[in-house]
Amino acid sequence: MAKYSRVSESVGLITLQNPPVNALSAAVRQGIVDTVERALSDPKVKSVVICGQNGIFCGGADIKEFGTNMSGPLLVPMIHAIEAANKPVVAAIEGSALGGGLELALGCHYRIAHSKARLGLPEVTLGLLPAAGGTQRLPRLIGVPAALDLITTGKPLDARRISTYPCPRPSDLDALFEGVMEKVRQSARGAIAPVACVQAVRAAATQPYTQGMEREKELMATLFTSGQARALQYCFFAQRAVSRWSMPNGARWDTSKPRPVHKAAVIGLGTMGRGITVALAQTGLSVIAVETQEKQLMDAKQAVSGMLERGARRRGVAPALDKISYSHDIQAVADVDLVIEAVFEDMGLKKKVFQQLASICRPGTFLCTNTSALDVDHLASQTHNPELVVGMHFFAPAHVMKLLEVVYGPRSSPQAVATAMQLGKKMGKVSVAVGNCPGFVGNRMLKPYMEQAFFLLEEGATPELVDRALEEFGFPMGVFRMSDLSGLDVGWRVRKGDGLAEPGAPSGQPARIRQGRRYSPLGDLLCEQGRFGQKTGQGWYQYNKPGSQVARSDPWLHSFLEGYRAQHGLVARRIDNQEVLDRCLYALINEGFRILEDGIAAGPEDIDMIYVFGYGWPRHRGGPMFYASMVGLGKVLERLEHYHQAHPDVPYLKPCSLLWRLVASGSPPLHKWREVIRKLHSQL
Ligand code: NAD
Repeated sequence: MAKYSRVSESVGLITLQNPPVNALSAAVRQGIVDTVERALSDPKVKSVVICGQNGIFCGGADIKEFGTNMSGPLLVPMIHAIEAANKPVVAAIEGSALGGGLELALGCHYRIAHSKARLGLPEVTLGLLPAAGGTQRLPRLIGVPAALDLITTGKPLDARRISTYPCPRPSDLDALFEGVMEKVRQSARGAIAPVACVQAVRAAATQPYTQGMEREKELMATLFTSGQARALQYCFFAQRAVSRWSMPNGARWDTSKPRPVHKAAVIGLGTMGRGITVALAQTGLSVIAVETQEKQLMDAKQAVSGMLERGARRRGVAPALDKISYSHDIQAVADVDLVIEAVFEDMGLKKKVFQQLASICRPGTFLCTNTSALDVDHLASQTHNPELVVGMHFFAPAHVMKLLEVVYGPRSSPQAVATAMQLGKKMGKVSVAVGNCPGFVGNRMLKPYMEQAFFLLEEGATPELVDRALEEFGFPMGVFRMSDLSGLDVGWRVRKGDGLAEPGAPSGQPARIRQGRRYSPLGDLLCEQGRFGQKTGQGWYQYNKPGSQVARSDPWLHSFLEGYRAQHGLVARRIDNQEVLDRCLYALINEGFRILEDGIAAGPEDIDMIYVFGYGWPRHRGGPMFYASMVGLGKVLERLEHYHQAHPDVPYLKPCSLLWRLVASGSPPLHKWREVIRKLHSQL
């Protein structure tokens, strides 16, 4: 755990040994305490070097100890003892020194790092702060501004020469902290750890060391017991858990071998196809990009090159322009390993494209669709090898957004799923395998969420009120601002296709009832007026000009809502933030339980990661299913029942049977839900 040897007669060498990253487990900490003591008491030893085996200094705390009662020596006194040693102690850093690993190095008298070493304090990303002296020693070593940057963002940096450090302790300390605090509060969107980090560093800059340490301890204690730290730590593990996918037929990540993909094709170079092409090329794949419209092809070439050049500049590498060849002929994809179709969301068109692909591509080519909601299995049935077909549902902009839903149909092979999951990982995405149903997981849950927002407008709310409640909860954008950004016409087209919006809907039926359930035509009415959101300069808000992003309240919209309510005999009532959150979030969560019940998502972690990485759910609230478990399943059930009684014509508010079952089983913790789901399935 910590090997001791004496080298060159007088140097005590301590090597941390705990693969894979030499994490500071109880045994390693004990090893350090023992070997440091041994080195200090050996008169032949004049100096001590601490290093890590296998080219890694130390990755920090041992995650296996998270949430357990710590045993063994504590980190703070151990580091203090090293600092207090009467012989020089040097940290020899290779690979990485992260979290507690860097704090250990900071306790040493000197640090020598390999130029490729990565140093960082990522505690803030887990809802914590570096509490083994990290917030107190680092500002003393590298100055307040640089320490603030490292500690509040958790981002690692490469080893640097001391001469490159900014000068410590600026004269305008108060102004500096006020400015940083304002910025951190804004970007934290309600997360408390970054704010506590600033407070701790302020203590380092303004108080003596011992008082600073006290403050650090106190702040850490608050964070430690906060639900936010639990949520962020849950996300850390959930992100890893979703890569270990499984399918209801028993296929799994560890028994399914992906096939390597070197050459891919993208069909359709609109919004999505362009982003996907960029993401594939940046991953090092050769890409054939196909677009039938001549003008679109020219525009796409220019847009893709621009995105690649900007990305390359940021990362200091050469742009991967030569990885892409463009064509307007689909025959060009004959020899690729995998195709991603991204043409218009039109089943007839997509079926034709899949039939063409099946006859053009060489045998064994994986055929993927980027559809947002259409039936992947229906597309698979257009080909000779339905087992090679999966959905690869990217999110806009596809070269930026981290989420990828990999959608398997009943006939998709485990190898096709494994290949899409591995390709997603290579592209730097958080890939989540999900079953095939309209809207898959993310968009399926969004439907009841948006529906409730529309109903709230009918009942007396305004877009501003609903958005404010959701933004205070932590979403970067409320539902109406988001709808203006992505375009109201997208949903309108889907509703028309589903026979909900006129003219698809049969005439003569009440405006606010469709297919036997409550329906709000508000979005359709705005679209009929040409109010598609940002792109037309008007939607739920108004904008200075089409394409502008600054939303302003629109008096027209408010009087339109009043007129609408009067026309339908609706009396506006006062709606508070709590009702907005209850109805929007619990309707979404209820659908999440239905998705689990239907086996579309393998577990709550899959749903949560989809919402955190694809839909702006605040990470410090852990995702919708984790949030439900924190609120208490009994409470969620009671609120849904309450609202369903008040709105019996809204099926999305009817608590689903899995939620009933979980509450009846004593609301077990989230990691035990799978057992309840398994039992429910075995009884069906
Ligand atoms: P888009 O309208 O911007 O682009 C579609 C492109 O496909 C157009 O350039 C069109 O000329 C081209 N095309 C049409 N038929 C073709 C054919 N036979 N061969 C080659 N190219 C053809 O659409 P989009 O927003 O990029 O959406 C594409 C797909 O991605 C849809 O299925 C959509 O549901 C899905 N999607 C969209 C988003 C989004 O936010 N826009 C997000 C996720 C998924």
